[in-house]
Amino acid sequence: MSSYDLLREAKALIDDKEVLDLSRQLIRIPSQSRHEAAVGKFIFQKLDKWGLQPREIKVDGNGPDVVAEIGRKKAPAIAFNGHMDTVEVMTGWRHDPYDATVEKGMLYGLGALDMKCGLAALMVAFKAISESGHLDSSRVVFQAVSGEEENSSGMRALLAKGELKNVKAVIVGEGFGGLAALTHGRRGGFYWDVNVTGKAAHGASPHLGINAISDAAKVVCALDSMRLRKARWLAADDSTPLTESQTVLKISGGMSSLSVPEKCYVKVIRCPLPGSGGPKEVQAKIEKKIEGLHLRSKVEMTLQEGPGDIFYPHVTPARSSLVSTACKCVERLTGKRPRLVIGRSEADDNLIAHKLGTPIICLGPGESGELAKYHQAEEAVHIDQLGNAARAYFMTALELC
Ligand SMILES: [Zn+2]
Repeated sequence: MSSYDLLREAKALIDDKEVLDLSRQLIRIPSQSRHEAAVGKFIFQKLDKWGLQPREIKVDGNGPDVVAEIGRKKAPAIAFNGHMDTVEVMTGWRHDPYDATVEKGMLYGLGALDMKCGLAALMVAFKAISESGHLDSSRVVFQAVSGEEENSSGMRALLAKGELKNVKAVIVGEGFGGLAALTHGRRGGFYWDVNVTGKAAHGASPHLGINAISDAAKVVCALDSMRLRKARWLAADDSTPLTESQTVLKISGGMSSLSVPEKCYVKVIRCPLPGSGGPKEVQAKIEKKIEGLHLRSKVEMTLQEGPGDIFYPHVTPARSSLVSTACKCVERLTGKRPRLVIGRSEADDNLIAHKLGTPIICLGPGESGELAKYHQAEEAVHIDQLGNAARAYFMTALELC
């Protein structure tokens, strides 16, 4: 099918107002992480009413994921993926975060950007693909997951159940910068606990002890002064060249008595670039830097390795059929080719790319600059992009099928 025909069909089958109305309905159902059951039920009922045979996937500690598939069973699939949960209500809201008010072309609400409008656009596109009747030999799956804002438990449940088996490309409906930008990769995130152990002594005789806090302070300065890599050929989501980052997230230590502190704890994150080494290699470099300080305290670094702790960086090449097709479809719709960016924060797509190596992009309604109020009060999105987001999903999926 030619892209011209797909554009015409996308315009005929997808109505701006339908995506807007559905986005507003989703915003009106609170769904902070671990409280996704009500919004999941709404999505399930909607898909069921559309005749798309949804299923629930149980997620420990969170509301169930909701999935559906259309097309030929077991055929290679394109997946539409989005998360249902939001962060908590931050202070500073002027609009009611659950009212879904539209004012001067902007839809206000918790999750407007992150990512209920994207989820609504994916749902409408999924229904339109089913109505188009074009899936004779291929398959499209829809996945609404819980727990993304906490520990990706919903995504891990889908992976464990094999719900991404035979998926050849994934479109996550989360836009950073709206349709003007396409996220085709993401930095990773490795977290370490750093335990500094000195020697206790009476606080009035500090020369008799080894002050773990003082040594930890030197460790923090060393962590902040490490040389980090830059990838000039990749753009970050703020359009600057992509660089690694390393951030000290936490420090605690000391006792209430008049004593030289013998223990201090530091938590640090490294956000590596696609193509960087794994956590073991990075850790070796950090340890070498700390050794060079010749501290009297003992310093032990432990990688956090629990479920949802390690995020590996990934990039889907610009020349891949997923990225090039999505760019072409957006350009047809908006007249402007999206710029390719790499997300700086970790998300569910890190997991999918690492576990399965599947090409994956994030694309959808979103904002940039001052308006990018992700995880902030007064989160809002321009409504004129909602219909085109759904059309972009429709066209990209059918062109790839
Ligand atoms: Zn999100």
